[in-house]
Amino acid sequence: MTKRAVVIGAGLGGLAAAVTLQHAGFHTTVLEKHHHPGGKMHEVKVGGASFDFGPNTITMPAVFEEVIRRAGGNPEKYMQFHRLRDHTKNEFHDGTSFVFSSNKEKMKEELLPLDPYAADHYDSYLEEVTKLYHLAEKSFLRRTFRSWKDYLSLPLARALLSSRPHQTMNSFHAKYFKDPRVRAAFNRYATYIGSSPFNAPATFSLIGHLELRDGVYYAEGGNFNIAEGIKQFAEDIGVVFRWGEQVHAVEAENGSIKRAVTEKAVYPADVMILNGDLLTQVPALIKEKHRPSLPDRFFQHLSPSVSAFVLMAELNTTFPLHHHHVFFGPDPGKEFEDIFDRRQYGKSPAVYLCTNSKTDPSRSPNGDNPFILINAPPVSPDTKALEAEDVWRFLEPFGMNLAPFVKAQRTVTPGDIRSTYAAYRGALYGLSSNEKKNTFLRPYNQSKDLPNLFFAGGSTHPGGGSPIVTLSGMNAGKAAAAWYGK
Ligand SMILES: Cc1cc2nc3c(=O)[nH]c(=O)nc-3n(C[C@H](O)[C@H](O)[C@H](O)COP(=O)(O)OP(=O)(O)OC[C@H]3O[C@@H](n4cnc5c(N)ncnc54)[C@H](O)[C@@H]3O)c2cc1C
Repeated sequence: MTKRAVVIGAGLGGLAAAVTLQHAGFHTTVLEKHHHPGGKMHEVKVGGASFDFGPNTITMPAVFEEVIRRAGGNPEKYMQFHRLRDHTKNEFHDGTSFVFSSNKEKMKEELLPLDPYAADHYDSYLEEVTKLYHLAEKSFLRRTFRSWKDYLSLPLARALLSSRPHQTMNSFHAKYFKDPRVRAAFNRYATYIGSSPFNAPATFSLIGHLELRDGVYYAEGGNFNIAEGIKQFAEDIGVVFRWGEQVHAVEAENGSIKRAVTEKAVYPADVMILNGDLLTQVPALIKEKHRPSLPDRFFQHLSPSVSAFVLMAELNTTFPLHHHHVFFGPDPGKEFEDIFDRRQYGKSPAVYLCTNSKTDPSRSPNGDNPFILINAPPVSPDTKALEAEDVWRFLEPFGMNLAPFVKAQRTVTPGDIRSTYAAYRGALYGLSSNEKKNTFLRPYNQSKDLPNLFFAGGSTHPGGGSPIVTLSGMNAGKAAAAWYGK
């Protein structure tokens, strides 16, 4: 008998789930409202330059390769990665700077002039974040969560307790980094999960292990090629993609999902994976009577992760910029208060630039191509808008007078992120991890009410960020296949 799987959304989570299900013997169809794979990860062209929208900082490349390898393919045929050793320059308002490197000795040299204590304690910092990473990998990253009972296993309870859930990222970093500038640079890792370092649990300091030990990578030709590569492999093994098809309804009968409905067709499903943002798509697609455990009121008072204001500019010259470069304002901690407490942009925010033409000049033959990101509060009517001119003004004190050299530019606001990707209040990473219950008790990967419906992507377990949602897709695909086979 033919087993039919339908995946809603071709984001990284949906692509990974589709490959996993097809490999498990399902006839898999992916329904995607846009005309490109990757969801938030895709190529944007502005003037003569090409940009990676979404994930610019790539870690854990082995996870993307694993999707293909597990399904019997050779990942090297579909994607290649370059490791960036000295990957991110951190520059401060007082003219000082240091570079994040995945080379331990180089890192100590970089830290020494700013924070001799940090240089001295860097080995123990690395050891501790590596421990945190291994704990998380074992207990969260490679499993699906279907109900609160899944949290009660003894090994998981032990892992949870030893992963410092009660300490904040900032207080963890304060143990190793005495200089406030250095601490601010490390604290920025909280934004990778859309949260504040003053609230996010120290567990997420494990990002330091990924960036500073495993390394930061760039995919050959552009990071969007990760999604293109997985999509190509999926097609090669028989996954069917329906581009430009938005699902308007998911129909259920007798406590199980039956079909997805688009304007063009009806797609019957034995199992279904929802990769679109669970927080917007569950209430939009499934009648409330079919989902008593996720009623409409559940979706009304959630605490989303940060959003972003993005400015992509093609310049007609080059500047002394690193591939990844962060400019910190005079009071970096204040930005988090502005965003999370006051729901406003930081008054002097950290400005992140990714200029991938520094590694790959073919992306922007006329000059630099900075992709500039400012952390933004989730969409709210009270937030005062930001303009491109504000961004240029933030950069001027650092001697980065880029505006006169702009050939072409485009901005993307949190409102655009909300409407383009159906992202809950424009969140980049689903729910924030500012509250412990969001970190460890995200919405589950399997519907409690409709057991043949599974969730993959940033709004479910294990969380947001490109490798993590990819793991989520593999986990959900495996769980769906196992559930069907029972
Ligand atoms: C500006 C920005 C910067 C980021 N920077 C980084 C970074 O540096 N590093 C990193 O790792 N991560 C980064 N991220 C986060 C990363 O992009 C996401 O965590 C990840 O790509 C989300 O993948 P996903 O599978 O959850 O879904 P998405 O990418 O959100 O894809 C979901 C897909 O579902 C489709 N869809 C939704 N509803 C429907 C429907 N009803 N019918 C049909 N299709 C539907 C959407 O069109 C979309 O294609 C960034 C994100 C943004 C926006």
